[in-house]
Amino acid sequence: MYDIPLFDLNYGEEEEKAVVQTLKSRWISTGPKCAELEEKFAKMLNVRYACAVTNCTAALHLACCVLGIKSGDEVICPSLTFAATVNCIRYVGATPVFADICGIDNLCMDAEQIEELITEKTKAIIPMHYAGFPCDMQKIMEIADKRHLFVIEDACHGPLSDYKGKKLGTIGDIGCFSFFSNKNISTGEGGIVVTNHEEIYKKIRLLRSHGMTTMSYQRASGHATAYDIANLGYNYRMDDIRASLGVVQLDKLREDLERRTQIREWYCARLMKRDDIAVPFTDNQEFVSNYIFPVVLKNSNAEKRDTVRNRLHEKGIQTSVHYPAIHRFSVYQEFAGKLPNTEYVTDNEITLPMYAKLQEKDIEYICNAVEECCKLV
Ligand SMILES: *Cc1c(COP(=O)(O)O)cnc(C)c1O
Repeated sequence: MYDIPLFDLNYGEEEEKAVVQTLKSRWISTGPKCAELEEKFAKMLNVRYACAVTNCTAALHLACCVLGIKSGDEVICPSLTFAATVNCIRYVGATPVFADICGIDNLCMDAEQIEELITEKTKAIIPMHYAGFPCDMQKIMEIADKRHLFVIEDACHGPLSDYKGKKLGTIGDIGCFSFFSNKNISTGEGGIVVTNHEEIYKKIRLLRSHGMTTMSYQRASGHATAYDIANLGYNYRMDDIRASLGVVQLDKLREDLERRTQIREWYCARLMKRDDIAVPFTDNQEFVSNYIFPVVLKNSNAEKRDTVRNRLHEKGIQTSVHYPAIHRFSVYQEFAGKLPNTEYVTDNEITLPMYAKLQEKDIEYICNAVEECCKLV
């Protein structure tokens, strides 16, 4: 175990109570708690519809399905992301086309490069808001409108992040969020899809549950007695046990993120002074989720970065890399393009601990350790 882990759950008695209450209610699969979570999440994001699902991978898959993305289509996405952002494109038989990131100061995909990647086969763009910092959505939406492309936001890192008066995930056609344990909202496994389009929402609801036109809860409560299967769907339903955790986590979210903002400020005050380390996204002025705290070593290479990480681990500090670039994985090598910024960052990024409970003295300890470890390489 590490003295300072990368992440720690923001869980207390409230979560325990919520789960026990759901168990005692005798309704544990998709039901009233899911509905409550969906309503609450939609309200919080000021978006019309939300549909809770098993995880964000399912959310992204459903998004690709309902937008009709299929074999022969191309979808533009980043390579500096988690595999699920890209796997969903492959699930529907389409081809990922990787866009590079902006650089060491902005780890989101570079909107300026999107247009040159568009072909007559391009169907959609999947931006991923790295650490909860927004991609250039204004530019991305302009391109999408002009070239008639769909936009699916992978907003896993960014619940409640602001962007020009809107919330991330509500700007494109569909937004996808994850409630995996280490995300800003934790339910173990879980996710949610949001959209402002009624047609898209209706299709997602159907495909979430086998394409069945009614749900068990509606039948158990006497609102329906039969169902049809209108489309080939999946079982991507969230259960009410997890949903009840989600509801409690949503109540805590704003405060959790405010703590993270403070923690980021402590980190920045120390690390921005250094000329051997880049702290990305320092020019962002808006409220964001700070899902993770990434730094990028300058004039470095993968070997040096790994040495620094190992030294930090020896000092009891857990770190991570967000992310091993997708285009270097065996199943994706055939889709690789020219991605110099992604390649530099994947080799030189270190993710430092970030969670609400961290204290100023922890950040001091981590920053001292980072400085020492960097000096040695
Ligand atoms: C966590 C994550 C996912 C996958 O979410 P799951 O809920 O674990 O399926 C997808 N994209 C990004 C960027 C993520 O961080």
